[in-house]
Amino acid sequence: MMGLGMRFRALVAAVGMLFLAVTVDAVAETKVNSVRLWRAPDNTRLVFDLTGPVQHSVFTLSAPDRLVIDINGASLGAPLNVNTSNTPITAMRSAQRTPTDLRVVIDLKKAVTPKSFSLAPNAQYGNRLVVDLFDNPADAAPPPAPTPSVATVPAVPVTPTEPAIKLPPAPAGKRDIIVVIDAGHGGEDPGASGSRGQREKDVVLQIARETQRQVNGMKGFRAELTRTGDYFIPLRGRTEIARKKGADLFVSIHADAAPSAAAFGASVFALSDRGATSETARWLADSENRSDLIGGAGNVSLDDKDRMLAGVLLDLSMTASLTSSLNVGQKVLSNIGRVTPLHKQRVEQAGFMVLKSPDIPSILVETGFISNANEASKLAASSHQQALARSISSGVRQFFQQNPPPGTYIAWLRDSGKIAQGPRDHRVSPGETLAMIAVRYQVSPAAVRSANNLSSDELKIGQHLTIPGNDLAAKE
Ligand SMILES: [Zn+2]
Repeated sequence: MMGLGMRFRALVAAVGMLFLAVTVDAVAETKVNSVRLWRAPDNTRLVFDLTGPVQHSVFTLSAPDRLVIDINGASLGAPLNVNTSNTPITAMRSAQRTPTDLRVVIDLKKAVTPKSFSLAPNAQYGNRLVVDLFDNPADAAPPPAPTPSVATVPAVPVTPTEPAIKLPPAPAGKRDIIVVIDAGHGGEDPGASGSRGQREKDVVLQIARETQRQVNGMKGFRAELTRTGDYFIPLRGRTEIARKKGADLFVSIHADAAPSAAAFGASVFALSDRGATSETARWLADSENRSDLIGGAGNVSLDDKDRMLAGVLLDLSMTASLTSSLNVGQKVLSNIGRVTPLHKQRVEQAGFMVLKSPDIPSILVETGFISNANEASKLAASSHQQALARSISSGVRQFFQQNPPPGTYIAWLRDSGKIAQGPRDHRVSPGETLAMIAVRYQVSPAAVRSANNLSSDELKIGQHLTIPGNDLAAKE
């Protein structure tokens, strides 16, 4: 027979086991293993890496400003360390509110407007919780100073010994042609990756920046970037930026990946009028469009009405800009073909979301296959990046010299006969000097000398000179 003490001990053991069972049951199954951060011009994105799906809620507190993130069914797997410089965040703390609920508190310099969403696992990452901290408009920094006007960009002289060419002064009110350059992917979306860890998002941003620098060096042109750092912009956000900046052309820069590591070569895409023109193009369009989900899930303004309206506009005015897209695409492609092998000899067409601006000619340049080890190391080399950027900027210039939008400086140049289409013949008149002829045709004296194998500047009346094509890339 059991004594009272014995019974009590048995009861304690039973209760203990019961309690243990409850505790085991209640321990959070999901771990929060790390946090990553990206700062964009108007928001800060936090991405929490999780071992499984969670429920969550986000709210703000004031005086002092804080953001609270409650992650249900989770506990901390590792300390949350992240560099918060240049963000509104001053500190990040966490505590287990209940055995199953983790609370993360973010201390802020100023109030923010949060948006949050969960992401399912993809090829690179597992489950994630994304929290975007949007700067409040009142706090927003003043817009950055406009790109330096062309006059302040130092010209690269054609030859160091010759005086700079004097282009005719631009008449007042003649605007620049605006080229919006879009570096694909960014932030949480790394794009394709190379065997040595090269990431598409980094390589294409470098090429985009170099292309911007070169286009800004061409008189009558101005280049703007959709993203200027390592953060994500949804695909439709990119075309919106292009429209807000008044783009005459949209150029999206990417690097390919293919299931076969042997695939190589650059390609240029324009939007297809009726779906993709090849299986490869369709496969590619799918994988590029898929990245929109990374931003799209949290973007509440992306609704069906926008899509439908875009579809209607597309039908109305796509044809004209598609013709331009194919034209500029072909010029860029033939320039690229001089610096790197081509994947396809002609401009391909596919249903890339980012090309769906009905009113802005748009092309997508796949600069090479980052999945190919040889091309991946080329793409990461600054000399090759410069060559690719030169191909893009040259193709863009050639297109607009033939098709300048009305009201632009380039249109004015063409209409006043100041755009040379290529080498011409000039017959020397009495009183003309080589320097005068050079100025008249907007080329350097050295170029005239070299085109005619002249050893001195002495000319004979009636002599025929070959005038080389002038280079509008050279600035005053
Ligand atoms: Zn891409």
